[in-house]
Amino acid sequence: MSGRLAVVGLGPGDVRWLTPQADAALAAADALFGYGPYLDRAPVRNGQRRHPSDNRQEAPRARAALETAAAGSNVALVSGGDPGVFAMAATVCEQIESGPAAWRGLDVEIVPGVTAMLAVAARVGAPLGHDFCALSLSDNLKPWPVIERRLDAAAQAGFVIALYNPISQARPWQLTAALERLRRYLPATTPTVFGRAVGRADETVAVTTLQAADPAGADMATLVIVGSAETRLVPRLGHAPLVYTPRSASA
Ligand code: SAH
Repeated sequence: MSGRLAVVGLGPGDVRWLTPQADAALAAADALFGYGPYLDRAPVRNGQRRHPSDNRQEAPRARAALETAAAGSNVALVSGGDPGVFAMAATVCEQIESGPAAWRGLDVEIVPGVTAMLAVAARVGAPLGHDFCALSLSDNLKPWPVIERRLDAAAQAGFVIALYNPISQARPWQLTAALERLRRYLPATTPTVFGRAVGRADETVAVTTLQAADPAGADMATLVIVGSAETRLVPRLGHAPLVYTPRSASA
């Protein structure tokens, strides 16, 4: 079988965060698949077929990309950020696991990218400087009680928590509920960062506290980082404070 599939991370938005490997994979492809707005970030090149699809069409998109690769094309399937973080690489694995045996013979490469939490963290300092975890607040693919259990465990274990998919039109209350949950365990003053569309023209980054964190300040393009009890601010002269989590933790 001569076809191949590259699952390519585009990074959070800024082209300087597109790795040379990702750029090369896009350039080498003869067919590109992805959620429309992500696909729009891949430079248009002559002779390439482009197949945009809607959000939430992950499984059909992955199958279409696999079918096209199995037919002999060099396919790039794009994801925002890193393809392995709440994104298309796992969808592709699911489809290979449940799909035709021939798909297991395909040459599949996962091309990593800068995931949103790293970009947001870099904007404010080093909030992920010590142990942290990432959670998706989307209850499309897991029940809300599972999310609550994980939030409780993460906060009690002292992890800094990066919240992906905090809110959307279809999921308006989840971020409010999650923040309320975390307030049970963490100090009111815990630094909390809202990074929106980081690396894009409409980027906004706000640093607040867990007590004052307002879900109205978040949308689908926002990543929220809730610090641990160790996370702190370093005030500076003429510059925004640094938000960081020290590398050592007390018992
Ligand atoms: N694979 C992506 C994540 C997909 S889930 C990655 O690795 O970044 C989609 C969520 O990612 C969004 O709801 C938001 O929480 C976050 N996100 C993606 N791009 C972002 C950006 N440029 N700025 C802030 N958050 C972003």
